[in-house]
Amino acid sequence: MWSTMQDFPLTITSIMRYGTDVFGASEVATWTGDGTRRRTYAELGERAARLAGALRSLGVDGDQRVATFMWNNAEHLEAYLAVPSMGAVLHTLNLRLFPDQLVYIANHAEDEVVLLDGSLIPLIAPMLPQLKTVKHVIVVGPGDTAPLAAAGKELHSYEDLLAAESTSFDWPDIDERQAAAMCYTSGTTGNPKGVVYSHRSAYLHSMSTCTGNSIGLSAADRVLPVVPMFHANAWGLPYAAVAAGADLVMPDRFMQAEPLVRLIETERPTVAGAVPTIWADVLRHVRENGSDLSSLRLVPCGGSAVPESLMRGFDEIGVQIVQAWGMTETSPVATVAHAPAGTEGEEMWRHRVTQGRLLAGLEMRIVGDGDTVLANDGEAVGEVEIRGPWITGSYYQDEDPAKFHDGWLRTGDVGTISPDGYLVLTDRAKDVIKSGGEWISSVDLENHLMAHPDVIEAAVVGVPDDRWQERPLASVVVREGATVTADELKEFMSDRIAKWQLPERWTFVAEVPKTSVGKFDKKVLRRKYADGELD
Ligand code: ADP
Repeated sequence: MWSTMQDFPLTITSIMRYGTDVFGASEVATWTGDGTRRRTYAELGERAARLAGALRSLGVDGDQRVATFMWNNAEHLEAYLAVPSMGAVLHTLNLRLFPDQLVYIANHAEDEVVLLDGSLIPLIAPMLPQLKTVKHVIVVGPGDTAPLAAAGKELHSYEDLLAAESTSFDWPDIDERQAAAMCYTSGTTGNPKGVVYSHRSAYLHSMSTCTGNSIGLSAADRVLPVVPMFHANAWGLPYAAVAAGADLVMPDRFMQAEPLVRLIETERPTVAGAVPTIWADVLRHVRENGSDLSSLRLVPCGGSAVPESLMRGFDEIGVQIVQAWGMTETSPVATVAHAPAGTEGEEMWRHRVTQGRLLAGLEMRIVGDGDTVLANDGEAVGEVEIRGPWITGSYYQDEDPAKFHDGWLRTGDVGTISPDGYLVLTDRAKDVIKSGGEWISSVDLENHLMAHPDVIEAAVVGVPDDRWQERPLASVVVREGATVTADELKEFMSDRIAKWQLPERWTFVAEVPKTSVGKFDKKVLRRKYADGELD
């Protein structure tokens, strides 16, 4: 028997209507470097309608891809709402990628329009002639457009286009399974791969973000997405905030510790999400300057393993970091590490340092050799597989059956699941170090190294070894003025790490190379030390 319930589609249009009507007085505040630009959600709704009108007048009348090359700000949020709601597909371009990758991605997605932040004109100008399908470039904010002139594209000013349009738009009915937005993964192997989110997946992911087992967003929050809006939709925070009626605080391009701390002190967000490297910089800054982060009730952190020392450091300043795990393919939030109710002390920490518990709606398992499903006993180590309504089932026009297994996504992450559902990642499949037939977790070594007070960053990779096949090599960045030696670091780790796992190859460096999204770039390290020798 069928239900009597209405078959009402789950769409971004519905999130936009709800947020801008019911919470019309909520605001998006964008940092300008020395002040704040403010816009209410009611104004945001009107401007989204104007943007949709403008895009329609440029010929966007179906599922054309409208790309953004923008920072985290109110205008980017307008595109987040208008583009999917008019039936087109929002494609956020990661401006930190190499030009070749960006050109590949924009051509592969067949982007037709680019919304371009004026400050990024010099970055995109050399690539623009190679973006074959792009017809229109809409420049947002001030910027000298002269370098764009030779690319043969039609140039427009965002504000001029919006000024010519009406504050209402006839939003079409949309099938919830339709494409709403797309993101390409950074492409650790081969070409970047496109993940296409549906209206339904974005809607359900937003609802999930508003649950207490996730981040618990509500209208009482002011949400600061430091994670870029061009990376996995800023972890879905903008849509979730609009759905919750929460204010948004946008850092624009000011994502470094000093301006971020100033922004937090001025705009007093309650929730702020960023990768561990950013929070490590912020913590250092706060310790040196005694800044006030007390407005933050929760700091979701992920994208790579969150060092326990970082979480404890934040606890000391009265701010709770919660670790979350996910990937572009999972919209991205899939697990969140809240300790079980009532736990405290070390018992609480044992849970907080994990990647967390699965969110309702998703299913997860670990799979060992020969595709055997392993027990959730906290011991058996295997590859994490996941499925659910906000997990991708394929890549956009890119066959990669190896990434999928019987309707599950193979995540490439390796770890255990405890009987009470906590995921502990020991590595990415390709980062595991195989020494003499045994596995060494590079993540474990990094965490223990980064717990040393003199160590700022540590990345460990496997390098070839005649005897053991592979051995760990540690690249360490130490605090300015510190004189700590490799032997001292080995000694420091020796009561927590088995002796045979301790690295014998060490390099002390000024900085660990990072990927476009701020993660340790182990590819670069592996390449550098491919012969197993130090410099
Ligand atoms: P990529 O880094 O492949 O471009 P994503 O940004 O989607 O793409 O990153 C997803 C990956 O980041 C995960 O598969 C996992 O390896 C890593 N990751 C994300 N969150 C965490 C976490 N809390 N702990 C450890 N690793 C994480």
